[in-house]
Amino acid sequence: MSQYAELGLPLIHAGKVRELYALPEADRLLMVATDNISAFDWVLPSTIPDKGAILTQLSLWWFDRLRDIVPNHVISTDVPAAVARRGLVVEKLEMIPVECVARGYLTGSGWAEYQQSRTVCGIGLPEGLVDGSRLAEPIFTPATKAALGEHDENVDFETMVGTVGRETGEAIRDLTLRIYRTAEEVARDRGIILADTKFEFGVRPDGTIVLADEVLTPDSSRFWDAASWQPGGRLDSYDKQYVRNWLLHDSGWDRNSGQAPPELPAAVIEQTRERYVRAYEQLTGLRFA
Ligand code: ATP
Ligand code: MG
Repeated sequence: MSQYAELGLPLIHAGKVRELYALPEADRLLMVATDNISAFDWVLPSTIPDKGAILTQLSLWWFDRLRDIVPNHVISTDVPAAVARRGLVVEKLEMIPVECVARGYLTGSGWAEYQQSRTVCGIGLPEGLVDGSRLAEPIFTPATKAALGEHDENVDFETMVGTVGRETGEAIRDLTLRIYRTAEEVARDRGIILADTKFEFGVRPDGTIVLADEVLTPDSSRFWDAASWQPGGRLDSYDKQYVRNWLLHDSGWDRNSGQAPPELPAAVIEQTRERYVRAYEQLTGLRFA
């Protein structure tokens, strides 16, 4: 179900949001970010205009800022017109099957686990934290990548090491935390809190670990407005939380019904698009034209 059949390229993977196409060079892929939006592991029936281009351009901006810490998979932005700005030519990597999550703040599934056990992915945390609390140190909380339609599962470090080996596990943990620290500072300077974020790494034939996929976008991260951040209070968000909240509280949809979520109203689509644009513009200082 390629969205860009006019490319005339073999589709080798269609995720919830991105599509991968084969290229004549066997060591390269064309990675295309669609305007799909997912929430609660559903692809919503509506799309957000320009979202794919915004995410690709934001990822490129970050890859550039992180190049001293880790090599990335980008080869070229020179892509067919049909996928201009949303497509990238990337190195085809052997992906490491772990969602590498860094958290500097406690919220979401981390907050849920903490309330049960005072831990997140087996890491013990102090008492008295609330939803949105800043952690004394960022933590690495890996998740196993789920098959399409299933939830990713948080795992502890040793479980992940069981899957990928100790050397690789330690390397991707250290890279995840270094990248998070750097990005958190960059975002903070621009008035945005990077609460948590997810990276994916791949391996080159020579064994080098490379930052792949998308990076530090509103889809892979939680961004909060630093000015209004209030632990335990309402966490104003630039990211998908807006859509999640609409689905949970205003749409009439029952998350546990097993039914697909409804179409987004035009106003919610427009508001969501504005949030993605705002995140891009505030982080990069550039206009999204
Ligand atoms: P989900 O919808 O849960 O995110 P997904 O991760 O399979 O599913 P997408 O994120 O939409 O789907 O698609 C991107 C896919 O491309 C991911 O499977 C990701 O691991 C893979 N990928 C990203 N960069 C590379 C790369 N350089 N080489 C090979 N595969 C890559
Ligand atoms: Mg993905």
